Amino acid sequence: MKQEITSTAPDGNGLIDLFSRPISYLRLSLTDRCNLRCMYCVTEDESNGCLSKLGHGELLSYEELLRVVRVAVAMGITKVRLTGGEPLVRRNVLGFIRNLTEIEGLRDVRITTNGVLLERYGRELYDAGVTKVNISLDSLRRERITEITGVDCFDQVWRGIETVLALGFFPVKLNMVAMRQINDDEILEFARLSQRLPLQVRFIEFMPIGASSRWNADTYISTDEIMERIRTVGELVPMQKGRHDGPAQVFRLGADASGSLGFISPLSHHFCDRCNRLRLTSAGALRSCLLHDEEIDLRSVLRAQGPDSAIREALLAAIRNKPQGHQLEERMRRTGSDCHGRMSRIGG
Ligand code: SAM
Repeated sequence: MKQEITSTAPDGNGLIDLFSRPISYLRLSLTDRCNLRCMYCVTEDESNGCLSKLGHGELLSYEELLRVVRVAVAMGITKVRLTGGEPLVRRNVLGFIRNLTEIEGLRDVRITTNGVLLERYGRELYDAGVTKVNISLDSLRRERITEITGVDCFDQVWRGIETVLALGFFPVKLNMVAMRQINDDEILEFARLSQRLPLQVRFIEFMPIGASSRWNADTYISTDEIMERIRTVGELVPMQKGRHDGPAQVFRLGADASGSLGFISPLSHHFCDRCNRLRLTSAGALRSCLLHDEEIDLRSVLRAQGPDSAIREALLAAIRNKPQGHQLEERMRRTGSDCHGRMSRIGG
């Protein structure tokens, strides 16, 4: 194992962590607030509307976020994803995004959204220079979406998807968390959608994380099982992995499909050896692994009015702490506990 992080930015080589992984990707959770109440994201109490939220002063301000990103980009980060909570519900988010995309050296600004506000904001996101849009949608049935999210929003989300496709965002990725006995009977419908539309439909393994009381060994479905089911209706033709595919394995369902299928397997086939991410939670904490609860309090560093070198040190410390693998199963076996961070604060 190497002893130190290599930081050679801005000459293009970027940051290399202690396990020789290039670190080039920062995910920002802009807010823990959301306009939906997805069953796996909120606790039973919160599903009634009283979501526990961070106070305004607890969130990083846009100025603080921009400062962090400038420092991170100077160190070698080239890609930022905005997530949450729901990033599009934060006030004046478009002004922030316009400032963000102007940061020199930041090549790629992406967003993960539930799609509810995309019809309204799609054009402005496009004009602001957002490069890619991921939309979370766990069912293609209106009533079921209402059950899963607590809000009757299917039509709105669908119009949002049509909006971003028409604007020319590419690829538009549709993320479906597959859950047994909740939406697994729609796996084939989702797969077929990728034949009709130029979408990348991505099946994400359900993770035991955060407030979710829904995860258990029965609701979890592995990528292998999802693929096996899809193979009953067509051939999964492997596609060459693109620059934009991240940890997904990518296929086409039959040679003529307009879109593609992606499979993301955080539990069954870890991609920790290729993980290039750091996360900044909506409470201003740096988190080097989605499934590890260790965090570094960057908000205090920012509010201590120190120099940029203090932010740089915190980012380096987070990279130094990045575990080789999440080892979630082993931890669960050993301690019986999962990962306690809240997805709405960490950003999925
Ligand atoms: N509001 C935005 C959205 O809906 O895409 C961004 C935040 S949301 C927490 C990001 C993603 O995390 C969503 O695709 C959601 O389905 C996924 N997610 C949340 N909890 C999850 C879990 N326990 N396992 C797998 N994915 C999860």
